[in-house]
Amino acid sequence: MSSVTEDNLKPNIVLLSTSDLEQEIRQLTEELKNVKDNNNEEHKKLYALVDNITRTLNWINIAKSQGIWKSKTCKHAINFVCQAWNISDESKLGIPSDVIVINDDGTKRVVVSKFSEICIVCPLYEARRS
Ligand code: SF4
Repeated sequence: MSSVTEDNLKPNIVLLSTSDLEQEIRQLTEELKNVKDNNNEEHKKLYALVDNITRTLNWINIAKSQGIWKSKTCKHAINFVCQAWNISDESKLGIPSDVIVINDDGTKRVVVSKFSEICIVCPLYEARRS
């Protein structure tokens, strides 16, 4: 098991690459600019909508990046599997079934290298120390 020293815990978050949805929003914004229409009020509403969606996506990407970082530095992630949570029913929690491993004792664990979203707001996070 690798360990992480204090130095390794310095923030070095790399934001995720632009998603397909973000590209679609950019494209939509460009198309909106090109539309020659006298209905300025309608344009303003659409721009505001696109702007809100873009901001939300930016925050989601930041949250995802934090989840990835936490999944890599948490002491409960052993060999990429979170040993802190025992998942009773992954489908009810919105966790894909292909990121679940079942231990010999029947406990279900999440492979956080595949589904780091679970780490984003996890209250059990503890930094791994050497
Ligand atoms: S942050 Fe939470 S979900 Fe992620 S590995 Fe640590 S204990 Fe598990």
